[in-house]
Amino acid sequence: MGMTPKEVEDVFRSSGAFLEGHFVLASGRHSPKYLEKFQVLQWPAKTEALCATIVERVRAFEAETVAGPTTGGVVLAHEVGRQLGTRAVYAERKEGGPGREFRRGFPLRPGERVLVVDDIMSTGGSVEETIAAVRDAGASVVGAAVLVDRSGGAAAKRLGAIPLVALWEVEIETYDPASCPQCAAGQPIRKPGTTPAGKERAR
Ligand SMILES: [Zn+2]
Repeated sequence: MGMTPKEVEDVFRSSGAFLEGHFVLASGRHSPKYLEKFQVLQWPAKTEALCATIVERVRAFEAETVAGPTTGGVVLAHEVGRQLGTRAVYAERKEGGPGREFRRGFPLRPGERVLVVDDIMSTGGSVEETIAAVRDAGASVVGAAVLVDRSGGAAAKRLGAIPLVALWEVEIETYDPASCPQCAAGQPIRKPGTTPAGKERAR
């Protein structure tokens, strides 16, 4: 049986991938929660278990190929593809422009049934760009799957007719620093993702 949303949340928490406190996000906004997906993805066995739940829920899509955006989507596409017995291909950022493309001699044939996977859906940008890259290549997107949907349902709406599987939906509120309640309370803030690996635990 696949994992429940609560079990997925527990994997993120116990891995240190779901932090609660007071954080500055890359956008400059503040949030009491932070997701660092690579704290989970660095564990192949945990990634395997999460992907097994994705696989259980996407089998009906009959995907022939799995595609994911760099960087976390590479890991997930590889593992989902391994479990489905399909290929896994990666959509990389276009140099100097918006959007993504398939390089490295990844051919997609017209009509090929492609499942798009990614780790965390925020605005949905990476997933949408990967969908566009699949369509640019002439193939068709049969579904999308993510570990976490933190878009509050907005991302699924933007995908329109493409079915979305999300293992865990979490609301992560963000604030303009000027109206951040934790700043108002004088709570110390940290900027995650900026400490070199190895230094984090020593502090
Ligand atoms: Zn703040």
